[in-house]
Amino acid sequence: MSLSGRALENGTWSYDAINIRDHAHDKHQTVDDTPYGGGAGMVLRADILENALLSIPESKRGKLIYMSPRGRVLDQCYVQKLTQEDNITILCGRYEGVDQRFLDAHKVEEVSIGDYVLSGGEPAAIITMDACIRLLDGVMGNADTAGDESFSNGLLEYPHYTKPAAWTDCDKKNHDVPDVLRGGNHAEIKEWRDAQSLALTQDRRPDLLKK
Ligand code: SAM
Repeated sequence: MSLSGRALENGTWSYDAINIRDHAHDKHQTVDDTPYGGGAGMVLRADILENALLSIPESKRGKLIYMSPRGRVLDQCYVQKLTQEDNITILCGRYEGVDQRFLDAHKVEEVSIGDYVLSGGEPAAIITMDACIRLLDGVMGNADTAGDESFSNGLLEYPHYTKPAAWTDCDKKNHDVPDVLRGGNHAEIKEWRDAQSLALTQDRRPDLLKK
């Protein structure tokens, strides 16, 4: 079972899924309409979204988030901030998006998972939830795990190796584990890992170093 699945069973977190269609007014359960000003696609209606929101007890709504490619891009710093919230309500869009008036009226924060467009907000919500849940107290076995990870200190993480110590790939090429990791000298291991972490970040994500 996944970390988040186990944490759900343990009661570390819980969720309710709300189907916006259950809050429509008509027998066809219509939730969208054509955009004012013309253009392609359909837009989720503000009145229906508000009905859905108000069906959640006020004490449980917490911070309101709309998964949206226009939003601030999710990063580890923002994930950490989200974990400080007691409750979060996540709106998943479809079609062209949602009526802006709903976002304005309820001060909804827009959050993106990256510079690409999905067909719906659900995968983005799952990614956001998973990133938050693994940081909750007691979810990861070792409290140090999160501290060493990529982005937690502004750098990418160093490379990992496990047994066997010597491995031959399918092209008969030998690969050994770096000696320093097998020497047992914790100060040298830390120094090696820090240097690897910095070099990887410089090579792959120099933008992180600028930050
Ligand atoms: N018309 C919108 C635009 O150009 O910004 C895109 C709408 S998209 C087809 C449908 C829904 O997918 C959005 O309302 C949003 O909830 C979700 N979505 C798409 N890309 C996303 C991203 N990068 N991050 C978070 N949610 C996204």
